[in-house]
Amino acid sequence: MDQILGSAAGGTVETDVVIVGAGPVGLFAVFELGLLDVKCALIDILDKPGGQCAELYPEKPIYDIPGYPIITGQGLVDKLVEQIAPFKPTYHLGQMVEALAREPDGRFRLATDAGLTFLCKVVVIAAGGGSFQPKRPPVPGIEDYEGKSVHYAVRRIEDFRDHDVLIVGGGDSALDWTLNLQPVARSLTLLHRRDEFRAAPDSVRKMRELVEAGKIRLAFGQVSALKGESGEVTHAVVKEKDGASVEHPATRVLPFFGLTMKLGPVANWGINLDENLIGVDTATFQTSEPGIFAVGDINTYPGKLKLILCGFHEAALMAQAAVHIVAPEKKVVFQYTTSSSSLQKKLGVI
Ligand SMILES: Cc1cc2nc3c(=O)[nH]c(=O)nc-3n(C[C@H](O)[C@H](O)[C@H](O)COP(=O)(O)OP(=O)(O)OC[C@H]3O[C@@H](n4cnc5c(N)ncnc54)[C@H](O)[C@@H]3O)c2cc1C
Repeated sequence: MDQILGSAAGGTVETDVVIVGAGPVGLFAVFELGLLDVKCALIDILDKPGGQCAELYPEKPIYDIPGYPIITGQGLVDKLVEQIAPFKPTYHLGQMVEALAREPDGRFRLATDAGLTFLCKVVVIAAGGGSFQPKRPPVPGIEDYEGKSVHYAVRRIEDFRDHDVLIVGGGDSALDWTLNLQPVARSLTLLHRRDEFRAAPDSVRKMRELVEAGKIRLAFGQVSALKGESGEVTHAVVKEKDGASVEHPATRVLPFFGLTMKLGPVANWGINLDENLIGVDTATFQTSEPGIFAVGDINTYPGKLKLILCGFHEAALMAQAAVHIVAPEKKVVFQYTTSSSSLQKKLGVI
């Protein structure tokens, strides 16, 4: 996968278009804009591109993508990433766009929760059903520790070096991070409700080898309380299956209880919403704010269908309108990729 990764923290990125959401529709928007020489940055709260296809049903077959009688969710994402690679979009993953405002010069400024700022001429909201947000475990007072010693994602492995790490969960994220953090952690405990894991069998096998080698602890039960001060956890109280309460040293806690979809910060950006969806003009897919477009599951209009192929169509029309804002002087001539040598050069096929 030929990706250009954006920096994870700090700094300002200047580009033509920022696409909020790297789901299938956000990815294809890069292609349609790229054909018109428009440069894009993609931002997604997930740590990988693909939105619902990659996060919710990577292995399920999709049967209604034109030209593919059958393709899995992840298979489609992989093809889209390959298809847009010639346009070298920058991927800024694992971060949520929190703020969007217009600058005095007419450009837009976006800020992410990882401290990155973007300046651009056009914003394309491809935020799907909203942002995937981690499910919070039912532990009293856990909010007091969030962001300091309780984390729902690993941004930097170094932040876990020499800590007593407690990972809670039995899926792929819990097992992957158990394997990846074990070499840097002072101690690592994996806690799950029962001795059955939903994660990839190979990860489960490697985890069990580490347990047998005495390199990590495997415990069964649920966190009932966290102990600590000023946001810094020191111990987790675990209620074990037999009802006994046991304290585990834990200076970093990583609960992986899955993700829910919430509209998130999009609601605060001053764009007219219709029952948590963004109304658009179907000739251009522009929102109530000039220069801000919305494509894919996040938008609404008469006859809207939440289908990937509809999002692809929306991306094509959006690009034809957005290019006039990015490059008002540019004369846009409609061309086919089959017959235009200039488009083929951009795609790197000739
Ligand atoms: C189980 C299942 C099966 C499906 N099967 C089919 C099918 O067979 N055919 C079909 O056409 N469709 C199917 N769909 C629907 C299809 O997946 C959606 O229509 C499609 O994913 C919409 O793409 P999108 O890019 O608009 O949004 P999404 O895929 O939802 O991606 C949006 C992305 O935006 C990100 N995001 C949101 N807010 C922010 C923010 N503030 N900052 C940063 N990132 C943000 C999210 O993290 C997410 O990754 C199915 C859906 C499900 C759940």
